[in-house]
Amino acid sequence: DAALLRPGRFDRQVVIERPDWRDRVKILEVHTRKMPLGADVDLELIGKGTPGMVGADLQSLVNEAALIAAREDAETVGMDHFERAKDRQLLGMERKLFMSDREKQITAVHESGHALVAKCLPNTDPVYKITVIPRGQALGVTQQLPKDDRYHFQRSYLLARMAVMLGGRAAEKAVFGEYSTGAQNDLKQVMDLAEKMVCQWGMSDQLGPLSYPRGEEHPFLGRKLASEKTFSEKTAWIIDEEIKKMVTTAQRCAADIIAGNRKVLDALAQRLLEEESIDNEQ
Ligand code: ZN
Repeated sequence: DAALLRPGRFDRQVVIERPDWRDRVKILEVHTRKMPLGADVDLELIGKGTPGMVGADLQSLVNEAALIAAREDAETVGMDHFERAKDRQLLGMERKLFMSDREKQITAVHESGHALVAKCLPNTDPVYKITVIPRGQALGVTQQLPKDDRYHFQRSYLLARMAVMLGGRAAEKAVFGEYSTGAQNDLKQVMDLAEKMVCQWGMSDQLGPLSYPRGEEHPFLGRKLASEKTFSEKTAWIIDEEIKKMVTTAQRCAADIIAGNRKVLDALAQRLLEEESIDNEQ
């Protein structure tokens, strides 16, 4: 909570690193101590499969798994319960929502586009699951899960990530010949990422290794707070151009992959419509 960090509130801040997988296994051990676990439960596997999660996430994962098991009158909490709890946490709660066949089809094509670009590009996180079951605010989800804990992100990884984000929209364009409103969040994420690459991480050759503050996102209002401008109008113009160039490159990359693998895209979307959820192996 940003309000807690206002000057004068605390005279000392202690930064706690996110736990790595060994820490996560230990945290899981603590939270499952009093829980009747099934023989198949492998905490090490769960720990490795939850990169980025902190103690509170892991606690709620364990609670969720216990709730699912209790609802089914299971004697013990099994690996399957943990898997489903993880799905809920990563993808959101399933939501009852009537979707017309057309809507479902658009969603299936969109999510397949994300997954296909992620699969085709090297240097991307493995696809964990794609689904067209509405969860939370989203009609469909493509979830990627890094293989390891990551602390540094290289430029090529970030560019690939942008292409994956734009893959949904590129697939819609290829199949239906036009865009829908479904990509709003994707576009926002792409823009945020490109802006950080250019303004904060010095990843544009044109601008060089300089930091350009462009205002920080307000935690509650969801919009940017103006910050004092420390660069010229001309630089502002180049920043916009560089961001645009990065996004356009990623967009072209996504569109090329979709065009080159059109049959795979169609097959994937079809399978997704039938199964509603597909995991990495499938
Ligand atoms: Zn999307």
